[in-house]
Amino acid sequence: MFGLTGILVGAVVNLLGTDLPARRALQRPHCPYCDHPRPWYQWLALPTYVVGRGKCPQCAAPVRIRYPLVEIALGFLFAWLYLRYGLSLKFVFFALYTAIFALVMVTDLERRLILNAVIFPAMALALLGALLDVTSFHGAVGWWNALKSALLGGGIGYLFFFIAALVGNALLGPGALGGGDVKLAAFVGLVVGFPLIVEALLLTVLSGGVISLLLLVTRLRSLRDPIPYGPFLVLGGWVTMIWGLEFAGWLFVQ
Ligand SMILES: [Zn+2]
Repeated sequence: MFGLTGILVGAVVNLLGTDLPARRALQRPHCPYCDHPRPWYQWLALPTYVVGRGKCPQCAAPVRIRYPLVEIALGFLFAWLYLRYGLSLKFVFFALYTAIFALVMVTDLERRLILNAVIFPAMALALLGALLDVTSFHGAVGWWNALKSALLGGGIGYLFFFIAALVGNALLGPGALGGGDVKLAAFVGLVVGFPLIVEALLLTVLSGGVISLLLLVTRLRSLRDPIPYGPFLVLGGWVTMIWGLEFAGWLFVQ
């Protein structure tokens, strides 16, 4: 049931991920090649792929693989979040955060863009979540402490990436780290709060560093190429949102 909701939300994420970066009003789903509107049975990419006709009926251009992937991923994640948190406010907020993370991932990987139109409403949502005490520390701290934790987390995330961007641009030339990454880090901080933001940043830097090193060693990229940190921030933020407390506990008990 919530898997299906996830698939539907995935379709919305796909639509936003295509139309928002193009800076045009949202349209009915259509073929990007010939502009032919997608017939109703293609509004979800998944069934189209399963039946084996992932193609535009007008010009036969294939439906990009990103569409069914996002639908599958969010379908799976929504179902999993429901099993973990039950039908709760926390489930609703974490599902929304997950959808936002997916959208950021799509626009950043495809266009190297993290849009204000996505990240500002996302920040507002995360503030609301803190006010309702729906954080990783859910229920334990009260709304005032949750809000303080979120603001401090957001501030630290913002500042860390702001300084990293200054240093990166000074060392590697402009554009090494974008303003979008800085705002995304603030959003992650608002979601996971302080002190978990430290863990999220650590995971981001570690995973980003390891992958960049692999890309350098395999010569798929050179030192001059900018590292898109968005996807790693999404990964570090999401993992910390779900397992942050457990991981921190495990770390300090050892
Ligand atoms: Zn077409």
